[in-house]
Amino acid sequence: MKAQARNRVLYIDLTKKDIEIVEREDLFDDYLGGSGVAIKLLDEECEPGIDPLSASNPIIFAVGPLTALYPSASKTVAMFKSPLTGNLGESHCGGRSAMAIKLAGYGAMVIKGSSDLPVYLAIHGDAVHFRDASSIWGVEAQTVGRILREVEEGAGVRTIIRIGRAGEKLVRYACAVCETYRHFGRLGLGAVMGSKKLKAVVISADKSVEIPEEKRREYKKVYDEIHDVVVKTDAMEKYHDLGTSGKIYDLNKIGGMAYKNLESSRAPEEIARELSGENFAEKLLSKRVSCSHCPIGCVHLASLRELYAPGYYFKTTTIPYDNEPIWATGFMLGMKQAEDCLRLIDIVDKIGMDVISTGVLLAWATEAYAKGVITKEHTDGLELTWGDVQVYSEAINKIVQMPNEFYQNLAQGVEHASRVYGGQDYALAFGGNEMPEYHTGIACYLNNLTGARHSHLDSAGYDIDQKLMGKDFGIEEVVEALLKEEEWRQILSSLVICFFARKVYTPDRIISALNAIGIENWTAERLEELGRVIHRAKMDFKFREGFSLATLRIPRRIFEVPTPHGFLKEAEMRKAIELYGRIIGREVELR
Ligand code: SF4
Repeated sequence: MKAQARNRVLYIDLTKKDIEIVEREDLFDDYLGGSGVAIKLLDEECEPGIDPLSASNPIIFAVGPLTALYPSASKTVAMFKSPLTGNLGESHCGGRSAMAIKLAGYGAMVIKGSSDLPVYLAIHGDAVHFRDASSIWGVEAQTVGRILREVEEGAGVRTIIRIGRAGEKLVRYACAVCETYRHFGRLGLGAVMGSKKLKAVVISADKSVEIPEEKRREYKKVYDEIHDVVVKTDAMEKYHDLGTSGKIYDLNKIGGMAYKNLESSRAPEEIARELSGENFAEKLLSKRVSCSHCPIGCVHLASLRELYAPGYYFKTTTIPYDNEPIWATGFMLGMKQAEDCLRLIDIVDKIGMDVISTGVLLAWATEAYAKGVITKEHTDGLELTWGDVQVYSEAINKIVQMPNEFYQNLAQGVEHASRVYGGQDYALAFGGNEMPEYHTGIACYLNNLTGARHSHLDSAGYDIDQKLMGKDFGIEEVVEALLKEEEWRQILSSLVICFFARKVYTPDRIISALNAIGIENWTAERLEELGRVIHRAKMDFKFREGFSLATLRIPRRIFEVPTPHGFLKEAEMRKAIELYGRIIGREVELR
């Protein structure tokens, strides 16, 4: 690949069916790639106040300078205005997406406008085709992948990013599925694609990466060093052996996990054992796969063998499982069997919804139903009951079918639904985004409230909580630790490195890795400063779109159930938010 290829931005206009390729070294030199470049492009392309489900909302995909060159630099950043929160939408995904985009010759892609008829994009290197997608509109995400694999060229280094029916029906937390087992999961990229009538994006590579002659020896040395560290650190053991679900049992044991809509912070022992990563691996794991160019291989696939007709007729379905999907379908919905979690994960996957949002939403609906806040009239006859896999399967289908106003409201997320029907005290959304599993202490909730994406991956507050167990600490220490982590993660997601390999990519290793491919002049101080700049740029976008620290809703439920640090206090949480606001230059008036 020529040196400047990493700077190329492919602009695609779905309205005009037009493309343009522009060299943007101005962006890539200063912001590296990934999140850094994506937030600048979002600023350029997204007018203030637009409807996220209108043609004006751009979709940006960006990869980084290390993509295709170093181990575990395997992710793509998607950025857009979120239809769920109304502000920053950012989601990361692996599979083959990063490798395909980079080797097709692009550092980023911007998809603008909207098609009048269903369309999919076939990008084969510099050739971009707008193909009729009428025949695959309405088709499940996995099936779309199977069809496009047959009809599009470029097998090998090729990615197929597509939506299911949830995206078409503009469910605000619809995801985009990539290579069957990976997802741009959170914040509604699928709905944005659906609003553009964009069913899929196929990208195949026709280029390779060239390292300058004089750098080859250095590159090999740095590459080997990094590879060695990746395969020898605990990341390999932790994420490869049991996968992310390996932490479920211990998290439940310390009482740091929401169970049945946070009715309690731990599930009964027998359920925790049944839904543990260890049990999934022993009973159901069939194989592991990896994103392109990642030796860790954390993607765990289960085989679910089910009788479909009398007389020993079985079908076997391969279903990916991870920590969050097990929690959202299992712990949140009171499942008793690992197989039932897989059944729900499979349905959510086929429909193309974010599994975390779906689990939190149905958990709220179950509690609201038990309390009489909603009735059978709302649920279209369903008796929402903890652990009832059949009822939840039907409810998930109804969210997409939208047979009545209740399901139309559920399709807009738990923040919206609870505003309409009540039960906000136990509607577990933060900044408009449904919560991840953690109930570990103040840091995980500050992370959910203040993080740019309202995702646990913004600053890993759950991890900070666990490290602080048994120690005396003040909120200043927590706020500073969260900010420091979130700022540094901007560098990782600009390069774009999988967060599971974050311990490998220290500032020194990043600088060596960049130097060895001819990108020089980066220092630890410059990286640190850039992390801060990117984080503030994201926050600026959020505030521009109406986000406010002062009016953040905090569900009462989180103060009613003890964390491993004891009960949380709202006054302390608000003080911490105020402090956070002061540090980032956004003063907040204490209520
Ligand atoms: S650690 Fe897992 S998610 Fe991350 S790049 Fe590797 S295989 Fe993909």
